[in-house]
Amino acid sequence: MSDSIFSRIIRREIPADIVYEDERLIAFKDISPQAPVHVLFVPKQHYSTLNDVPASEAELLGRMMLAAADYAKTQGFADRGYRLVMNCNREGGQTVFHIHLHLLAGRTMDGGFG
Ligand code: 5GP
Repeated sequence: MSDSIFSRIIRREIPADIVYEDERLIAFKDISPQAPVHVLFVPKQHYSTLNDVPASEAELLGRMMLAAADYAKTQGFADRGYRLVMNCNREGGQTVFHIHLHLLAGRTMDGGFG
């Protein structure tokens, strides 16, 4: 059983503001939001980094993106726009080693990447 902080949220051992859940994914608000909307889409299966995800899980990665897009549509900001980011390992800025997709919205994102 994984001990990542996100696994503990999935097991309801620590609280989070959960906005979406299905059999394979959970999504909750980031504790330190970098935009007015900042939601993390997290697979229930633990993978430390994107490098650890096997090709057989391509559907899971697609689900994460589509769940984020659905959230943007249902929350009414899809047409205005949003940004999806997945950080990988230290130089990629990853701090929690349980893969997750950041959904950022509600402000204009700059054109750069860091
Ligand atoms: P990373 O830097 O790994 O791409 O992103 C990790 C994200 O998880 C950060 O944006 C951070 O604010 C968020 N985070 C870390 N710990 C917690 C927590 O306990 N609860 C929630 N909701 N978000 C967290």
